[in-house]
Amino acid sequence: MMTAAPPSPPESVPAQDPARRGGRPARPQLTLTVVRREQLGPHLVRVVLGGDRFDEFATTEATDAYVKIVFAKPELGLVPPYDLAALRESGLAAADLPVTRTYTVRTVDPVARELSIDFVVHGDEGLAGPWANAAQPGDTLTFSGPGGAYAPDPAADWHLFAGDLSALPAIAAAIDALPRTALGLAFIEATAENDALVLDAPAGVTVQWLFTGGGHRARLAEAVSSAEWLPGRPQVFAHGERDAMKALRDVFAQRGVLRSELSLSGYWAAGRTEDRFQAEKREPIGAIEPVSD
Ligand SMILES: Cc1cc2nc3c(=O)[nH]c(=O)nc-3n(C[C@H](O)[C@H](O)[C@H](O)COP(=O)(O)OP(=O)(O)OC[C@H]3O[C@@H](n4cnc5c(N)ncnc54)[C@H](O)[C@@H]3O)c2cc1C
Repeated sequence: MMTAAPPSPPESVPAQDPARRGGRPARPQLTLTVVRREQLGPHLVRVVLGGDRFDEFATTEATDAYVKIVFAKPELGLVPPYDLAALRESGLAAADLPVTRTYTVRTVDPVARELSIDFVVHGDEGLAGPWANAAQPGDTLTFSGPGGAYAPDPAADWHLFAGDLSALPAIAAAIDALPRTALGLAFIEATAENDALVLDAPAGVTVQWLFTGGGHRARLAEAVSSAEWLPGRPQVFAHGERDAMKALRDVFAQRGVLRSELSLSGYWAAGRTEDRFQAEKREPIGAIEPVSD
């Protein structure tokens, strides 16, 4: 298990020189402190972060704002910010390099000087899920970002959201940003009924929860395909497990959704760590082909 709150480095670890960037500028990293942890449901944990450096967090208009959390092995004693290029050059074994995990920023509260991240707890496997499950006030989390590319278009006829619990933070943030007059359909796949959260959706946005027990990858596509779509053209935001997204992509293609109206990607892939999954996405065979323009 790696941690995001490392102690001081032992002498055996090569010193990190912030000036050494291996030819590519490292993205700035920010370390914040866990203020509290909230159990939102059996499979969802909210970690609220704050601390002295909160004001360094750059806010964005994107409702799918995400950060790249960096996890380092605690036994190596590396100190953030982690200079990955320098660590690589120093000869640190590939298996010992810090690794990143991508997470949506669910809320930013500039008054309380806190931001929150909702983590799916998906068992003992992985780094981020188990870290969040065990997070305690005073722990620290180091990340770069935010990135993000989507925000609801007020000119869209209506909005279509589809995703699993990993995309729920981004879908909920988008729903929060909708005008109260907005129209839409939201389809959210969750493992169990008590995973469902109350979303503050406008009256014209119908939220449908799909409880699949965690294994039915075609369920989202079936629900979106068989639903009665609203009149006009939707702006679509669909993210979640990779195979579920591939099935959805076909539905959107059949419905004539244009690429410019569609935000769709895999947020994770069953049976693969994020490192493996991200590597696959860079190979032609791993990319989800977009629908046509
Ligand atoms: C832009 C973006 C935003 C994201 N936002 C969020 C977010 O806000 N909240 C969130 O929880 N996730 C989010 N994700 C997904 C998250 O990055 C992955 O789920 C990640 O793999 C989790 O890392 P891990 O260390 O827990 O598991 P890993 O070490 O990556 O994987 C270990 C095992 O767990 C499985 N696994 C990974 N994620 C899940 C899951 N959600 N459900 C079931 N099994 C899983 C893998 O298939 C693998 O077998 C986002 C991804 C992207 C690209």
